[in-house]
Amino acid sequence: MNQNNTNTNANTNINNYLDIAFYENNGNEIEGVYLNKAKVLLEALPYIKEYFDKIVVIKMGGSMMENDVIMQSVLDDVILMKYVGIKVVLVHGGGKQITQMMKEKNIKVEFIDGLRVTDESAIEIVKMVLIGNINTKIVSFLNKHGKIAVGLSGNDGNFIQCKKKIYKKDDKNIDLGFVGEITEIDSDFIKNILNTGYIPVIATLGTDQLGNIYNINADTCSSKIAISLKALKMILLTDVDGIILENKLVSKISSNKCEELINNGLINQGMIPKVKACIDSLVNGVTRTHILNGTVRHSILVEIFTDKGIGTMITL
Ligand code: ADP
Ligand code: MG
Repeated sequence: MNQNNTNTNANTNINNYLDIAFYENNGNEIEGVYLNKAKVLLEALPYIKEYFDKIVVIKMGGSMMENDVIMQSVLDDVILMKYVGIKVVLVHGGGKQITQMMKEKNIKVEFIDGLRVTDESAIEIVKMVLIGNINTKIVSFLNKHGKIAVGLSGNDGNFIQCKKKIYKKDDKNIDLGFVGEITEIDSDFIKNILNTGYIPVIATLGTDQLGNIYNINADTCSSKIAISLKALKMILLTDVDGIILENKLVSKISSNKCEELINNGLINQGMIPKVKACIDSLVNGVTRTHILNGTVRHSILVEIFTDKGIGTMITL
């Protein structure tokens, strides 16, 4: 039997190219573009090690959802992070889309310090847009890669509990309608999802003890989630490069300076909840917080896996 086998091998025609392939130049040398590719991967190694098995909370702003190419680019980064072992929690807003739908339905659009005044008809639109439209879209985009993502809102398993927010401005209480202030986050609920290998994709609605649903600013919600999960990093993606002062992009800024700039109006509107979310996260144990432009291709990968500074980093 043995002898038969040996004979067959000896007669094998190595020129039969259907079964065997050779290198053109007979060489195995790695050079040029491929060597550079290997170097790029190796340069990322310290960052991959640092972030392996750690939790990173990423918030996508409304502008990323306006354009499928941009959204795909952000989500490609998220997928890569997942496959190098980072536990990503994705939180999304949808302000622009909500405003557009409210205008279509002739509902008054009003913001106070970047927070949406949300009456009864507005909260219906918020639910429709955030859960019905945006959350489903992000989950489907991610799940093109397999069984990757689970879509949630704070209503699911009651994991984001809140009460009506009382917003104080100039010593006055302002009624923002169905805008919630988070009272508790069930971090085990999110951890269970992460530990089964899924990316939780979270629409930022919360419920009170009576089952009423509230709109929660997505930046604020991201920080509460990051804190409850003891995340290593929180990244807020938006439609500007970071905090801009006198037409220049700020690379790094302290929380004290941020508060001063909010008070004198140089940080205003939608940037206020972002900056406050970063400060709250840092004070409560999140190690790093960043505001990045999510419409710039692969800004997340550059921030996490390279030593290039991008966007604004907020520090204590
Ligand atoms: P998102 O959907 O990402 O939450 P927002 O519109 O709520 O976007 O917040 C980002 C906006 O904050 C920017 O587009 C800009 O108009 C505004 N903003 C206010 N102050 C600043 C500042 N100092 N630097 C940069 N952006 C600022
Ligand atoms: Mg906003």
